[in-house]
Amino acid sequence: MSTNYEAVIGLEVHAQLLTRTKMFCGCSIAYGAPPNTQVCPVCLGLPGALPVPNRQAIELAMRAALSLGCTVRTFSRFARKNYFYPDLAKGYQISQFELPLNEHGHLEITTSTGTKTAGITRIHVEEDAAKNLHGIGAGTDTLVDFNRAGTALIEIVGEPDLRSSEEAEQYLKALRDVLMFAGVNDGNLEEGSFRCDANVSIRPVGSETFGTRVEIKNINSFRFVRKAIDFELARQEALVSAGGKVVMETRTWSDPQGQTLSMRSKEQAHDYRYFADPDLPPLVIDAPWLARIAGTLPEALPARRARWQAALGLTAYDASVLTSHPAIAAWFEETVAATAKLTGKSDAELGKKVANFVQAEVLRETTTSGLEAQFPVPSDRVAGLLALVEDGTINGKIAKDVFADMVKTGKSAKQIVDGKGLAQVTDTAAIEAVVRGVVQANLKEVEKYRAGKTSVKGFFVGQIMKATRGTANAAIVNELLDKVLGEA
Ligand code: ADP
Ligand code: MG
Ligand code: ZN
Repeated sequence: MSTNYEAVIGLEVHAQLLTRTKMFCGCSIAYGAPPNTQVCPVCLGLPGALPVPNRQAIELAMRAALSLGCTVRTFSRFARKNYFYPDLAKGYQISQFELPLNEHGHLEITTSTGTKTAGITRIHVEEDAAKNLHGIGAGTDTLVDFNRAGTALIEIVGEPDLRSSEEAEQYLKALRDVLMFAGVNDGNLEEGSFRCDANVSIRPVGSETFGTRVEIKNINSFRFVRKAIDFELARQEALVSAGGKVVMETRTWSDPQGQTLSMRSKEQAHDYRYFADPDLPPLVIDAPWLARIAGTLPEALPARRARWQAALGLTAYDASVLTSHPAIAAWFEETVAATAKLTGKSDAELGKKVANFVQAEVLRETTTSGLEAQFPVPSDRVAGLLALVEDGTINGKIAKDVFADMVKTGKSAKQIVDGKGLAQVTDTAAIEAVVRGVVQANLKEVEKYRAGKTSVKGFFVGQIMKATRGTANAAIVNELLDKVLGEA
């Protein structure tokens, strides 16, 4: 975008709640079941079937809301959003409209230019639609899978507070983190359990009013958010600069084509003929219920990062990497605690060292899927390894090799260190014998050293470490080498 225009962006996110069953019936929501096997009269919209709200879904929605600083309404309503499409058996979606469960929240985001707070307008609960499967069966058929129909969602409507595609991406990442750490959503963009629509408009710099917005759908990766918004901003600017007008419409991001494509003109709220659902009574949240949910919230992410920096000596970067996933954050804290227990040292003394080791060695071998993470070695075993470094049995370099061996063999650090004789040698006589041997074998280098080329010392240290497979205590090596080289 040129400097004449300013971007205005607001995101709408649909996040699947981690319930066991659907929003208004007892059907399972397990992913990947054969089509149309997780259905019942309620989620198929059969006449006369009545919905019953899922208590767990309401609680998860409240957790999300409280984690995002929203006010939870003690009195909210379900509403029917009417439209006609094959993925909607009833002809309406049960959502919330005039009195949503939660509103007025905020989210802190960090970009390359600093931090800012973006507003959250509302978070309401609703049910998902079925899934249309195009081009399967006999050639061009579209078939409908109702397994997803009725799945519990929250829609998080963001204020139009974002001013660049970078801010939009960071908003989305921060929101995903909050929901995952609150145990509300598994953050899976590919499987569609965390979906984003981006509303994008431009306005002349200095203008107080908003321009006409375009809604972009089908943004199922963080990379696409940036690309889709940047494309759309450029398209709108070219259009407006040439004297044209942006039309309010829904577009879709086509990554293969690298552009947004028009899908349909944008429907307005009144097109949906919203009205309170007569099958469902108002949703009433009493104070004890709300207090109970508030009492089970995890420590907020920014607070946790700040605490780790202050108490464990981590950098802001360390803290952000180690809180990139809730299971990784928990695992890191376990490892620090287990190492402290084994060594008798404090968390403050060990925190940065554990953080360095986890980032350099462990995360490379760690995979995550949803809220689960698969670590190459259990945290107490890594603590066992780090304790051997702390008590001087091995040095940091050998610890890396031992760790690789632990991953490969499943053995404990102690078993590997003992089995391979990797314990650090501090026996001065033994090291001196090696030092003398190396010096004797390299008399030419000794001459150079004595002629003033002191950098040759590094060569000797390397040879000695090689001869002892890195097990010689470095301080002792240095001391003895000085002594032997200094002898006439
Ligand atoms: P709809 O259901 O029509 O999509 P919502 O009220 O649910 O409407 O969501 C509107 C979204 O569009 C919000 O995320 C809001 O921040 C964003 N938005 C509203 N006006 C603009 C604008 N002029 N430019 C960009 N985004 C906008
Ligand atoms: Mg909307
Ligand atoms: Zn059902």
